[in-house]
Amino acid sequence: VVELSETHREIQRSVREFVKSKVEPLANTLDSREAPLPDEWIRAMGELGYLGLTVPESYGGAGLDALAMALVTEELARGWLCVASVMTRAIISSSMILAHGTEAQKKAWLPRLCSGEMLSAAAFTEPAAGSDLASVSLRADRDGDGYVLRGEKTWCTFADRAHVLTVLARTSGAKHEGLSLFFVEKEPSLSFSPHVSASPIPTIGYKGVTSYALSFDGLRVPSQALLGGVEGKGFRQLMSSFEYARIQTAARAVGVAQASLDAAIGYAKERVQFGVPIAQHQVIRHKIAKMATDVEAARQLCRFAARAKDEGRRCDLEAGYAKAFAAEMAERTTTEAMQVFGGYGYSKEYDVQRYWRDARVFRIFEGTSEIQYEVIAKRLLDGGLA
Ligand SMILES: Cc1cc2nc3c(=O)[nH]c(=O)nc-3n(C[C@H](O)[C@H](O)[C@H](O)COP(=O)(O)OP(=O)(O)OC[C@H]3O[C@@H](n4cnc5c(N)ncnc54)[C@H](O)[C@@H]3O)c2cc1C
Repeated sequence: VVELSETHREIQRSVREFVKSKVEPLANTLDSREAPLPDEWIRAMGELGYLGLTVPESYGGAGLDALAMALVTEELARGWLCVASVMTRAIISSSMILAHGTEAQKKAWLPRLCSGEMLSAAAFTEPAAGSDLASVSLRADRDGDGYVLRGEKTWCTFADRAHVLTVLARTSGAKHEGLSLFFVEKEPSLSFSPHVSASPIPTIGYKGVTSYALSFDGLRVPSQALLGGVEGKGFRQLMSSFEYARIQTAARAVGVAQASLDAAIGYAKERVQFGVPIAQHQVIRHKIAKMATDVEAARQLCRFAARAKDEGRRCDLEAGYAKAFAAEMAERTTTEAMQVFGGYGYSKEYDVQRYWRDARVFRIFEGTSEIQYEVIAKRLLDGGLA
């Protein structure tokens, strides 16, 4: 078991308080109305330091470790997945800037990302390039002292409310070495440029944030937008964020699953059938026991990966185990929680159907389960990743 320090426990308690008082009372209503995640919560997350948790204090962050990030994420996702997902974007962009940005970029972007003044969205996926990100085709062509972006992106979650888009673009023909990352600053609206059009993608869950297909038709960006000031490093720069992103996604899955387990336990103790609470029927008892075992196994895998990250070790294998297992665990646990609720589990009046709809996305984003197993298999069978 990964031990938690007093600081870890304190931060866990404080997030729990925030989620219980602000998020839990409203999440299901907002989800069923397809209403956006309130600005007030995002502002509070910035003020409480959640958006810059792992960034050093010298750049405006909280200077905490990956384990703290996993704990905060789990608690936020326990309230509502989309709340924890605002943090995902901050973690991905700040980890790439810290590792690869120029000093000027670190100073310009990190404090604003940490405070929530600058919210980011990731524009990596394209209609024809999802798992195979190295085949991205949106072009960034040099033009005077800047670049011009042309092409399509899709599934860019939070593009409407973000102040910066992290765009993976092609600057030359070479497959991996032809890609570069651009931090494209914008107004927090969809009509930030006549050269970018956006259309929302309707989804079955993950409400509170919206994903967009984006079409770039000659958007000019300054050369300072190029991460690290060098072309051709974008794929490697992006890969360097995968460990953090996968640990964080595993923690999101644990949070959603834990919420469904809490709900199932509460309901099973109250719902009476055949003269006793259903929690006294052995099948239900064992169902809940199995769910709890599954959630705890995923939590420990996630913390184990976070620990490895904090010890400065390569942890793509551990992060892959955690992400793959937690994603499948969340799907199993939330569906079993719905089962405990019987017919009420299918009603929108209860949160449990929201957990189930939200949990389904974990096997798809941040690297599908199939890709996670491929990463794991490559390390185990082929002695490393190419
Ligand atoms: C709700 C949601 C939010 C998202 N948010 C963002 C975001 O903010 N930014 C962003 O850039 N992207 C985002 N995505 C996109 C997401 O990262 C991609 O959907 C994901 O990477 C998979 O790509 P794809 O959808 O093109 O599927 P594909 O890559 O086409 O895969 C289709 C199927 O084939 C399998 N497959 C593919 N290659 C292999 C292989 N080599 N071996 C075995 N199986 C394989 C996959 O596992 C999958 O089952 C989001 C997606 C969703 C659903």
